[in-house]
Amino acid sequence: MSSAATTADHERKVLDAVPTGLFIGGQWRASGNGATTKVEDPATGEVLKEVADATPEDGMDALAAAHAAQPGIAAMAPRERSEILRRAYDLLHERIDDLALLMTLEMGKPFAEAKGEVVYASEFLRWFSEEAVRIDGGYQVAPNGQTRFLTIRQPVGVCVFVTPWNFPLAMGTRKIAPAIAAGCASIIKPAPQTPLTMLAFAQVLSDAGLPDGVLNVITATDAGGVMEPIIRDGRARKISFTGSTPVGKKLLEQAADKVLRASLELGGNASFVVLDDADVDAAIEGAMVAKMRNMGEACTAANRFYVQRGVVEEFSRKLAERMGALKVGRGTEEGVNVGPLIDRKGLDKVVDLVADAVANGASVTVGGKAQDGPGYFYPPTVLTDVPADSRLNHEEIFGPVAPITVVDSEQEALDAANATEFGLVNYVYTRDLNRALRIAENLESGMIGLNTGLVSNPAAPFGGVKESGLGREGGNVGIDEFLETKYVAIGFSG
Ligand code: NAP
Repeated sequence: MSSAATTADHERKVLDAVPTGLFIGGQWRASGNGATTKVEDPATGEVLKEVADATPEDGMDALAAAHAAQPGIAAMAPRERSEILRRAYDLLHERIDDLALLMTLEMGKPFAEAKGEVVYASEFLRWFSEEAVRIDGGYQVAPNGQTRFLTIRQPVGVCVFVTPWNFPLAMGTRKIAPAIAAGCASIIKPAPQTPLTMLAFAQVLSDAGLPDGVLNVITATDAGGVMEPIIRDGRARKISFTGSTPVGKKLLEQAADKVLRASLELGGNASFVVLDDADVDAAIEGAMVAKMRNMGEACTAANRFYVQRGVVEEFSRKLAERMGALKVGRGTEEGVNVGPLIDRKGLDKVVDLVADAVANGASVTVGGKAQDGPGYFYPPTVLTDVPADSRLNHEEIFGPVAPITVVDSEQEALDAANATEFGLVNYVYTRDLNRALRIAENLESGMIGLNTGLVSNPAAPFGGVKESGLGREGGNVGIDEFLETKYVAIGFSG
């Protein structure tokens, strides 16, 4: 199946093949009290499937399984760990159509985008299969020549992962792949809206030969009740979380109890700056990606557009034309570019933010009104003359809305871009190299898209500064988050 347009029978077949239990110690099992939770199709509001709803005791079983598996995965030859990841990469490609359909059904993104995410997610497996065999150490002569220093890099130990619904597979493989590469066992809790993709992925890893207990998946609606005891227990040595900043702060506090290593990939509030020397058509292409990938439900989504006066009319007009031409619908339908938002809460937030901006003087150029149900559809929307203090400019929209504010200078754009507690990514369009470098050096974010609307790449270090997070995922440094450096001082008598 290369494009969408699925039949109900085919969808049912793919859904029926997904395991629905908790994956603990290599076994699929029901939750301790038999509870289940429903997974909904955000395009129709219908229930797709029910999955196990873990109890805190199930969570502790998963921790015990990971703890038991830790010595084995740490001792496994790096080449063997690498080859498991590489086999899982191949299997993802063999199963790409079914995995992408599953993702579209539970998350809503168009089928072509879901396939794109499976490819993106698989690249973490391939990248870290290559990194697994390059973990190095060091040997050094002490400055006084008397001793020798040996440095060894060892797996950090059992890891706890919590992931969001917006990239149900990639946010998982970005953690699981480096953990396996480094020799760490883990427990992952996917988001309750999108557990199916992660459950199917656990089967992929098992089929690729991952030893029992190295990855444990628990689906739970009581996220805090199940995860907090695991984090505070002390047997896990690291937590890696992707999600909102308020939840990240809470988990960081919990991790402090036993001083777990913490990696946090949190919220964003990306600016998209178009200066008056920019190639406007290229900026439009970039804006469509930065804004519309995943229906705007991405931490990297362009949230605020600051466009210099000389090009604002052309940019706004062309962006509205492109946004207005997108086809909205269920992601399984042929030709659909924009699927539903994840749930009622997500849709209501977008409606409120647009209403606030309009009440404060913004103009709607295209879109601006939620579609009637079923499903949680919001049309691609462009707002102009958005006042600087609109909530849209300060909160993550997580929807297909592009608010445009005019700026008169490079400095004004820079100041506006930095006027946020977030610091994940910013985008800048300019043809002037000096200007580009000046801005890149002064923007307060972990990543910058310079004349591009896409920064995500498994071979590059992804992450934020300020309240957007701690640590980096991917790139040469991605595996470091899963390794401890041990130093051995060696007496030397010449
Ligand atoms: P969220 O509400 O923070 O939830 C993320 C995950 O945390 C879910 O699995 C959630 O489960 C779980 N969770 C919530 N409270 C918890 C607790 N007390 N203990 C343990 N787990 C808990 O975020 P979201 O709405 O799913 O995702 C959107 C957010 O993620 C946005 O802010 C976005 O920017 C951010 N994000 C960041 C990146 C990045 O790389 N920087 C990437 C993607 C998304 P429940 O839903 O059951 O509470």
